[in-house]
Amino acid sequence: MTLAANLARIREQIAETCRRANRSEAEVALMAVTKTHSAEAVMEAYAAGVRLFGENRVQEWQEKLPSLHHLFDATRSVSPSAQDSAQDTAAQMHLIGPLQSNKTARAAELFHAIDAVDSLKIATRLDAAARALGKCLPILIEVKLSDEESKQGVSPAGLPELLAALAPLEGLIPAGLMTVPPWSEDPEHARPCFRELRLLRDRSLAACPTLTQLSMGMSNDFGVAIEEGSTCIRIGTALFGTRQYTAGTLRSG
Ligand SMILES: *Cc1c(COP(=O)(O)O)cnc(C)c1O
Repeated sequence: MTLAANLARIREQIAETCRRANRSEAEVALMAVTKTHSAEAVMEAYAAGVRLFGENRVQEWQEKLPSLHHLFDATRSVSPSAQDSAQDTAAQMHLIGPLQSNKTARAAELFHAIDAVDSLKIATRLDAAARALGKCLPILIEVKLSDEESKQGVSPAGLPELLAALAPLEGLIPAGLMTVPPWSEDPEHARPCFRELRLLRDRSLAACPTLTQLSMGMSNDFGVAIEEGSTCIRIGTALFGTRQYTAGTLRSG
């Protein structure tokens, strides 16, 4: 299957799910997750019409960016809305993986948005870096909704306090919530996590009106995520095929 054919099939599945769930397709942005894939793969997706991208590691994006500067202007500030981003004429790259505090300045410089913030320490450093660059950086808060040891994210109980602490940070826009449910063959297993993330978002809106986005759903469960209110699905495998991990792509950062 070519990337363009994969993209057409995914868009058809999005449309079909939206019809079933009584949602507008325009509410659901498709993000192409390019980790482990080459700069050429990013260009191919761009040529096929994708404008919203995600990478997991600062270092990996830094290595691809030199051949992609003509598509990604990292110096501009972007809309916090994933729907606007997916329609943007220029491409955007979001950081969707964990961020170490010694990489926050680089991340603020190279990415248009940071989609997996889970601590005030990281947020404070991102805010300072964004302001120094004259940027306003949309961020998503990653919420941990399972007790898997390896998972990143703030606990649901800790979310209100984190959001309150973010309010005075003028370099950041808290644009929404993001989660990665425990991996399962059966997408229905993710449904309670998606539902809980939506409830958390709904409950947070009064205190934090900019918190509209719900980044949830990946290749094997995006249909369920859309049914539960996702505004941004993050798709790697269904678009680019299976990832080949090498020693180099597994290192952190
Ligand atoms: C890799 C990754 C994805 C894409 O996963 P697929 O199952 O390949 O679609 C989405 N979100 C995050 C945070 C990821 O790390």
